[in-house]
Amino acid sequence: MLTKNYDVYGVNRRTSTSNYDRIKDIVDKITLVQGDLLDQHSLTSAIHEIQPDEIYNLAAQSFVPTSWNQPVLTGEFTALGVTRILEAIRLVRPEAKFYQASSSEMFGKAQKTPQDEKTPFYPRSPYGVAKVYGHWITVNYRESYNIFAVSGILFNHESPRRGLEFSTRKICHAVARIKLKKQKTLKLGNLKSKRDWGYAPEYVEAMWLMLQRSKPQDFVIGTGETHSVEEFAEAAFAVVGLDWRKYIEIDKKFLRPAEVDYLVADPSEARRILGWKHRTDYRKLAEIMVLADLERERESRG
Ligand code: GDP
Repeated sequence: MLTKNYDVYGVNRRTSTSNYDRIKDIVDKITLVQGDLLDQHSLTSAIHEIQPDEIYNLAAQSFVPTSWNQPVLTGEFTALGVTRILEAIRLVRPEAKFYQASSSEMFGKAQKTPQDEKTPFYPRSPYGVAKVYGHWITVNYRESYNIFAVSGILFNHESPRRGLEFSTRKICHAVARIKLKKQKTLKLGNLKSKRDWGYAPEYVEAMWLMLQRSKPQDFVIGTGETHSVEEFAEAAFAVVGLDWRKYIEIDKKFLRPAEVDYLVADPSEARRILGWKHRTDYRKLAEIMVLADLERERESRG
């Protein structure tokens, strides 16, 4: 957004220690406003103060395993939080365009393969259920109040900024540490589950494109290819010339109560209408992420 000359505002929750690591390169180029998805008034005031043209809701409790430990809190942030933003828009800035980060987790126990905009949802975690609510409330405000509100059903999108608990980053981080002899093994859960993994910066372009149209419409965004956790691990270890089989151990702690086994996007509508297509495949993605972690690990002592 900065390269497109937008004035960018971010909403953040106050914490006693700052947590700006992932935005440290741009933090002096954007304006941070305090607010919280659990606090209606803070959202209404932020939108009133900023008078934004475009609003991107990428905030959520977004880690699937945590959603089983904190299902109610996940619903507050990930589901009701969307209604709170939409209410704020309706009251103080109805002309703003709104993007909601919907998720392939909504397809869950997939009813059809590949999944497109018309595939029925069957979420398999409290996170997925909450995202289905966020999706439909976005559709509902569009239809009820004529707000330009759209939902991007994005399949997994990864980058070196991904949190360490997610499979791709956990693997790439471990690969770098094993290569530098800081770690010996990597413990994972279900190696057979499959995901459609793409490169996050390209997915942000798709979000932006969705808000540039004159007509609000929801889109599925993904690569159209699916690979197992095992295949991703193989690709990541190969970047540093190691054989993944020698380092991976299975730990039941990382298995989930219900699994989403087979997700793969049919992004043809996005291609046709937005002119969007992914450019980075999972091997290239693994390389980008491993090289970034190698650089970070070489600089850090831990
Ligand atoms: P998600 O699709 O948002 O849940 O993204 P994740 O990267 O957290 O999980 C993707 C898949 O990797 C899931 O099917 C997990 O069961 C599987 N997986 C296997 N081992 C692990 C692990 O150690 N951590 C995580 N997060 N996922 C794992």
